[in-house]
Amino acid sequence: MSLLKAALRENHFVCVMEFVPKPSAERFAAMEAIMARGQLCGWPMTVAIGDRVGSPLDMSPLDALASFNTPLPALPHFSGKDRERHHLLAQLQRMDAAGLDQLLLLTGDRLPGHQPGERPVRYLESVAALLIARQACPNWLLGAALNPFKYHEEEGGAQYFKAEKKLAAGADFLTLQLGFDASKHQEAMHWMQRQAAPKPMLACLMSLTQGRAVMLEQVAGVTVTASMRNLLEAESKVSKAFALARSVDRLALQIIGVKLMGYAGVHLSGIHELKQLLALEARLEHWQAEIHSLEHWAPAWADSWQMPGLPIVAFHPPQGNWRQGESVVIASAKERARYHLLHGVHSLLFSRANWLSKAFGWAVRQPLWASPRGARVLHGLERAVKRPLTGCDTCGRCRLEDTLYTCPETCPKGLANGPCGGTTLNRCEFGDRECIHSVKYRTAKAVRQTAVLTERLIPCIEVETRHRSSWPQWFEAQPPRQLSPQPAPRTQPES
Ligand code: SF4
Repeated sequence: MSLLKAALRENHFVCVMEFVPKPSAERFAAMEAIMARGQLCGWPMTVAIGDRVGSPLDMSPLDALASFNTPLPALPHFSGKDRERHHLLAQLQRMDAAGLDQLLLLTGDRLPGHQPGERPVRYLESVAALLIARQACPNWLLGAALNPFKYHEEEGGAQYFKAEKKLAAGADFLTLQLGFDASKHQEAMHWMQRQAAPKPMLACLMSLTQGRAVMLEQVAGVTVTASMRNLLEAESKVSKAFALARSVDRLALQIIGVKLMGYAGVHLSGIHELKQLLALEARLEHWQAEIHSLEHWAPAWADSWQMPGLPIVAFHPPQGNWRQGESVVIASAKERARYHLLHGVHSLLFSRANWLSKAFGWAVRQPLWASPRGARVLHGLERAVKRPLTGCDTCGRCRLEDTLYTCPETCPKGLANGPCGGTTLNRCEFGDRECIHSVKYRTAKAVRQTAVLTERLIPCIEVETRHRSSWPQWFEAQPPRQLSPQPAPRTQPES
């Protein structure tokens, strides 16, 4: 059994050391020196190998792993950026041959150079990837991500709904996005503890300096507020050594905090040299001797973010401070009308239950439409009707009923199961629109269909079915399905 699997199973706090493969012998040697220690404060260590963090041309996690001189306990990542089902299956096969049986599956952030409206880029989303990996490798340890650092209700609620799908699709553990807001760490832990079958969670942490805060401005889904940056700047002005010592101290405190909250371990980012690890260990030992409960920890954590003369640091942006359990947003009249119109049309034509739907189904399954010319005509007809209404890209297997008539193809990444982690206050990671999953969340609340957003696991669209009509397939051997209203709108339960 792998070290990580054993640690998670036996409730041993664990350290996952992040390694982003770059063609540099020094980097590999430095990580080997770190991993040679085998533990941090007695906690076992595993190396996590990032995938396509910089670009699709990055060294693959498996090539990186093979480049170490000594075998390391490892958690490779798989990023869905510009990937299809066959890419994942190929990685699973290679891993199997190498004796590896644990994987973290991510949708991935924006592919460099991906401009919506230009060359379409496919993202194999994490829920679909989990379904594929779980089916192919039933006994592997599979992880997925959760970003709880969201400050508007729609984006935060949609994150947790999607996380429920990840658990249902087979995730054995969740790794959180990098974050510094302890109240959100606690919120995510409370959410997990309320799940029917809670799974272990790892918190992604990093020692934050002014330079790193600037770098993180480019990383989608990571929140570093202006007041945090002011404090980091003030620390830098004292001296570089002071700023560094404070950042390591805060990291040590944060590790102790998430451990006390019940996290199964940490995913440590930004530790590239053994001396950084040793400096962190020294501060961990200091704080471990002092702090034994969250009550003792909270004031120490607050102190670590204060300097004389500076205002109190806020970890949430000024425009929002949503907390799980708060339910205030309502769909606009236009959003509700749109849903009811499309739902009405869908029930009439695609329920497979009434005479009109049966007649439509019979008509589109005629052999005429199976010929190349007939298929082209039907495809053109479906596109002409649905594109102006929903933004449909005729993916060949219509998912509108499972997405409350918000077409997944209107998300730049084509995500159907829920949002990626990249939203900022409901804005899409690409910056040009509101995240479609925030709109879907509002609609689901208004029409009492939030269960759809947690229960319907939507598989990926296969390459070969794209850009053809979905209608004949829709009517093939599928029973009538009804969207029945829930008794009351389900939002996030009180935390
Ligand atoms: S629409 Fe939402 S899920 Fe899609 S890329 Fe933008 S932020 Fe991510």
